[in-house]
Amino acid sequence: MMKINILDPLVANQIAAGEVIERPASIIKECLENSLDAGATQLSIDVAQGGMQSICIFDNGHGIARIDLPNAVKRHGTSKIVNTDDLSAIASLGFRGEALASICAVARVTLASAIQDEPHGWQLIAEGTALKINETPVAHPVGTSITIRDLFFNTPARRRFLRTEKTEFSHIEEVVKRIALSRFNLAIKLTHNQRQIYQLPAATTDILQDKRISQLCSKEFIQHALKISMRATDLHLWGWIGEPTFSRAQADMQYLYINGRMVRDKLITHAIRQAYEHALGRENYPAYVLYLDCDPKNVDVNVHPTKHEVRFHESRLIHDFVFVSLKKALTETSLQENIEPEIFKPGICKKEPLLDAAMPDQYKIHNSYSKPITSSLVIAEQAEIYSRLQSDPEEVVMTDKLFLGEPLTVLAENFLLTKSMQSLGIVHLTKAYALLFQKALSKPNPISKPLLFPITVILTDKPLANISNNFQRLIDLGFILELLGQRQVVLRQTPNIFEKIDYAKFITELAAQIDVDIEPEKLTQQIAQVAASCVRSLESKANQEKLLQSMQQQFSEAELRRCFQILGVESLVRMFAHA
Ligand code: ADP
Ligand code: MG
Repeated sequence: MMKINILDPLVANQIAAGEVIERPASIIKECLENSLDAGATQLSIDVAQGGMQSICIFDNGHGIARIDLPNAVKRHGTSKIVNTDDLSAIASLGFRGEALASICAVARVTLASAIQDEPHGWQLIAEGTALKINETPVAHPVGTSITIRDLFFNTPARRRFLRTEKTEFSHIEEVVKRIALSRFNLAIKLTHNQRQIYQLPAATTDILQDKRISQLCSKEFIQHALKISMRATDLHLWGWIGEPTFSRAQADMQYLYINGRMVRDKLITHAIRQAYEHALGRENYPAYVLYLDCDPKNVDVNVHPTKHEVRFHESRLIHDFVFVSLKKALTETSLQENIEPEIFKPGICKKEPLLDAAMPDQYKIHNSYSKPITSSLVIAEQAEIYSRLQSDPEEVVMTDKLFLGEPLTVLAENFLLTKSMQSLGIVHLTKAYALLFQKALSKPNPISKPLLFPITVILTDKPLANISNNFQRLIDLGFILELLGQRQVVLRQTPNIFEKIDYAKFITELAAQIDVDIEPEKLTQQIAQVAASCVRSLESKANQEKLLQSMQQQFSEAELRRCFQILGVESLVRMFAHA
């Protein structure tokens, strides 16, 4: 029988290193990320022989205290998270505590660091194993330097996978470029074999930012780029997007940062591609440097060891926000110069709308409901209207009708339990909503509200025909839709009361259900029913209260009885009478 051994830490770390340390560029990426996490604003990187001989990185971050130094190079040694709760909102680039241990397992490392208010720094040397650690005092400004020599000296098999000096350095250059694009406040110096490659000052003004983009991505790109900035609630999308005329034959100029982390995200790539769809041929790729900032709670970065992939909690929302923002920026650049709201600082703008003229009629945006204005305005305006509607206090009118009571909790997603002095009550939510929606749809001149993020769905033939045949009627009811090419239907506005609905599900199910020649009354009924089945569960007390209030105000006694049952003291007593 085979004996089971516990691997010694060096072997374990060498195996782990295989995941994160592939080549010199991976070391540089990890170390630079550590510098950024330490709040560095200055970085200097000196590389010899493509990083295979040596890499020296200096930063002016907050440094590492003497007692932490040995832990920094141990596996799972990290100052960035403490427990699993922290994983749900990671604001730092690192958090796995693996990089330094992995680097130490496959190279000779000298780590020196000094923190504020200490007379000098400390230095630690680790060669192949983090176990022989010995700190010695060293003169060092506040910050950290790390020197890595002889990569893979103890793992010759890995060493053989390294390419030429030139290739390895080109990977390093790309890593440094990505980091330089990720933080404009950072000054970066890079040398290779003592030759200066980059010397980038901190880019604190718009002009300096454009200059950095020009240096890193080419002059042509900045000359043909639109600078964008779009906000909606806690989302901010900004950066530079290439005009469709500046497309590339490869996807090689696409930089996307989510909360300062460079990622390759299929969802956002898709949204961007879609925004360029009519403007670019199939073989052309858009060029962009884009930044999406959002609440770290809404994105999971712990998906992949190299952290290149992320997962969004509300992916549909993000997708549509990116798509709509870019699409509008690309189509409506002509008015930017006149309006220029605070949140939108155009860099280089085109006078002509880029797409409209070239677009076949059926693809044109059905825009009759709103005047064309700049993208950021539309979104800012929607956000504003949205929040105003949210906070609109509704009048409470009490009558002597059946009293619904106060909300307690939701059961099985479809029953709202309520209480009053003498009884408990149960509201059948789908029935209540269907009735509320139907009442709203029967009123003349419905008030329609823009969605914070328009929703796009793709439909098959029959449902698409159902929607297009009822198009005008839906618009008259307050559902502002748009038919784009390739079977896409975009929902932009809904009647006021249709909030907290899974809109994508709603529009897909509606399209599947409405008949081409349905009678007007049936149509409102069907819409109300479909919408009621798509209401997201009512988690907040405030929303539960709002629902009860609306029902209390708008429903007749008979209507209340259709969707509300009382469990009074008498029935409770009866329940236990035979016990
Ligand atoms: P992680 O970044 O996942 O925490 P690392 O192995 O990359 O793990 O680094 C381990 C720890 O060492 C970090 O959590 C940090 O406390 C410290 N550290 C590493 N590099 C630096 C640096 N340049 N400046 C300050 N602290 C650093
Ligand atoms: Mg790290």
